Amino acid sequence: MNIILLGPPGAGKGTQAQRLVEHHGMRQLSTGDMLRAAVKAQSPVGLKARAVMERGELVSDEIVSELIDAELTAMGPETGAIFDGYPRTSAQALALDEILARHGRQLDHVIELEVDEDALVARITGRYACASCGEGYHDRFKQPEREGTCDRCGSHEFKRRPDDNEQTVRHRMAVYRAETAPILPGYETRGIVSRVDGMAPIETVTSEIDALLV
Ligand code: AMP
Repeated sequence: MNIILLGPPGAGKGTQAQRLVEHHGMRQLSTGDMLRAAVKAQSPVGLKARAVMERGELVSDEIVSELIDAELTAMGPETGAIFDGYPRTSAQALALDEILARHGRQLDHVIELEVDEDALVARITGRYACASCGEGYHDRFKQPEREGTCDRCGSHEFKRRPDDNEQTVRHRMAVYRAETAPILPGYETRGIVSRVDGMAPIETVTSEIDALLV
């Protein structure tokens, strides 16, 4: 099974992808995570991507498509893929078709998380994560049970993304509307698009996605 999770920044793609990994043994392919790892490692890709990401703009189609291709090459053909944050442009959507065909895979579902942009800004600007295990938290919606201690691993270190400030978030949403939303009609004509209310509680969103995948 190969699925795309689509939706503006903060729609919950990463959270839902992690749950699909747990429920279905699939693999999450997040170009955002791959790029952040490259920035941290100061690799050539990271050095190119860093400033672009901090401005909330898109890294080149070639770079992200190569990252995805490399990940699929490293994965066994039996493991399902969840594309999280990719494709984000028409050129990437075309590249993905070509990459999947080369790997003998086909796209089963495109799941769009529908959300309210203003509520998303509040959601994104408050989010942070454990620096050690990556567990997600939020200033208003999900504080650790013991202040300053990660519920999952006990670490006391937390991190925030440098692009999670209001100005950059608004820009990332405009980029989503201009560059990413236009790829949906192409998938609709193939009859593989499903819509889920991304503003519903996390568990509800997960159940709805699970129901689509059976
Ligand atoms: P995300 O974690 O998916 O919100 O991605 C964070 C940032 O990484 C984006 O704002 C872009 O700068 C970059 N990025 C992630 N995925 C892509 C992609 N598929 N195409 C271009 N840039 C991307």
